[in-house]
Amino acid sequence: MAEDIILATTGLTKEFGGFTAVNGVDLQVRRGTIHALIGPNGAGKTTCFNLLTKFLAPTKGSIVYNGRDITRQKPADIARLGMVRSFQISAVFPQLSVKTNVRIALQRKRGDSFDFWRSEEVLQPLDDEALRLVDAVGLAAFAELPAGELSYGRKRALEIATTLALDPEMMLLDEPMAGMGREDVERIEALIRKVSANRTILMVEHNLSVVASLSDRITVLARGQVLAEGDYAAVSKDPRVIEAYIGS
Ligand code: ADP
Repeated sequence: MAEDIILATTGLTKEFGGFTAVNGVDLQVRRGTIHALIGPNGAGKTTCFNLLTKFLAPTKGSIVYNGRDITRQKPADIARLGMVRSFQISAVFPQLSVKTNVRIALQRKRGDSFDFWRSEEVLQPLDDEALRLVDAVGLAAFAELPAGELSYGRKRALEIATTLALDPEMMLLDEPMAGMGREDVERIEALIRKVSANRTILMVEHNLSVVASLSDRITVLARGQVLAEGDYAAVSKDPRVIEAYIGS
């Protein structure tokens, strides 16, 4: 396998009863890129994500991450190897502050989960690091606010901060813009661009203008199969892609 491929699937297939939701998908994600998985409703995007993060076991096919076959690994193993899906760890504690939420994620990374009643000397460096992450995602002004009081878009930014606290090599983002207004979309878009500087991102996203502006590469799924692959200019001109979207 080429060295710059961080994640590759071969013949990835998932059947539910007699129905094939993902059908022989060969996906290759290049290291350091933003790669989008798009396609009409029911195309198999969510099932693919669930297969990649091992929430579902594939019926057939294999998944290789950093040269290692992870087809039979468990979700926690995948995270430990450096591939983290954002909502997976984004259980936001609404009554705790934004900063404390991020600090708990940092503590989790260190292995002392939920131990947030520790002494000040232990917590201070973690608090400082949490504040840096809170600042990095544009939430500095809200650091002491209970997380439950954040707007929807800012809560998603907090999810990204808690994901970043685990320092993943690869982030899987599940419709990061879903349900957002334009301002939030712009903020999260800038944030994704920023955090992509030193990691790989695979995202499922319905907002095609976001996909167009962020993605280096796009895989279009339809009826469980790869319909097209390339940059936005190429796939958006592909008649099969246009037909799949219009026909959906
Ligand atoms: P997308 O995310 O692209 O909208 P999904 O991966 O959610 O597509 O679904 C792909 C197809 O698989 C759909 O037809 C859906 O109904 C079906 N599907 C998804 N999960 C299950 C399941 N647990 N049992 C049966 N069918 C499922």
